[in-house]
Amino acid sequence: AKSTRGNQYRLYRDNMDEANDKWLLLETKLHQALKQDRLELHYQPKIDLKTDTVIGMEALLRWYDPELGHIPPDRFIPFAEECGLINDIGVWVLHKACAQARFWNEAHNLTLRVAVNISPIHISTSSFVDMVCEVIAETGIDPHLLEIEITEMSMLDYTEDLIDTIKQLRALGITISLDDFGTGYSSLNYLKKFPVDVLKIDRAFVRDIVPEKSGIAMISAMISLAHALNLQVVAEGVEEEAELNVLREHGCEYVQGYYFSKPLSVDDFTDLIVNSVTK
Ligand code: C2E
Ligand code: CA
Ligand code: CA
Ligand code: CA
Repeated sequence: AKSTRGNQYRLYRDNMDEANDKWLLLETKLHQALKQDRLELHYQPKIDLKTDTVIGMEALLRWYDPELGHIPPDRFIPFAEECGLINDIGVWVLHKACAQARFWNEAHNLTLRVAVNISPIHISTSSFVDMVCEVIAETGIDPHLLEIEITEMSMLDYTEDLIDTIKQLRALGITISLDDFGTGYSSLNYLKKFPVDVLKIDRAFVRDIVPEKSGIAMISAMISLAHALNLQVVAEGVEEEAELNVLREHGCEYVQGYYFSKPLSVDDFTDLIVNSVTK
């Protein structure tokens, strides 16, 4: 029995070492990709349902590694949060997205609002607001054309400092959105305390609209709740016309999703703007 245990221990150690090596490799690669400007942003249009026009876009991070291939953000963002790279990534994304939005708006005489995803870990750092002010100054973006999307955090991580940070960002003119609403840690109490402008309904609810009647009831209730609290509503992950019709019928203001467009590279998004401007 003793030797079996010994073997198990060895096996466990080997796996640990292997996991450790993988971890280190990924960390090194992500660090290099960031330093060498090899991360990329794609932009998904946000559509205003009142006018059926593009009013802005969400910046979404893409990482292609020659050896590992495309690594989805759902995988490397949580990793970056754990290994401590998330703050540097957040600064890079914010800077890149603001510069790009400024460029598009200037070049085509538009007022598109760019939305950036920021990790709760990053926004909780004490220098966050100063950093955002620097990025605004450096890129020349109008803060009214900047939106920050944050996901709900556990109530444990939720502090007065964080509320204060959000208030300062809003005072600058920045729009704050609560992302993935209805999943994870969300609670109604949260909405009451959190000073946000926009509620983003998670795709999980949009997907349920069509097959189930209760799905419509849920969406309708979420939209009503948001409006009662004076919040704007964005529904994400809209893929079907039937989903769109229900959202429209229930007064949802903005949508994003493959039905209109996938997240686009800079070149493809530029084409989209040029085509809609000249139409
Ligand atoms: P998210 O912020 O909820 O972003 C929406 C995700 O849904 C994106 O996945 C988008 O490509 C995808 N999506 C959009 N429309 C549709 C649709 O109609 N159908 C389906 N099935 N999916 C749709 P993506 O780009 O893979 O990003 C995944 C998550 O990674 C994001 O979820 C966000 O939490 C995180 N993320 C992405 N970029 C960044 C970033 O720059 N910083 C941080 N902190 N997180 C990021
Ligand atoms: Ca988002
Ligand atoms: Ca989301
Ligand atoms: Ca998400």
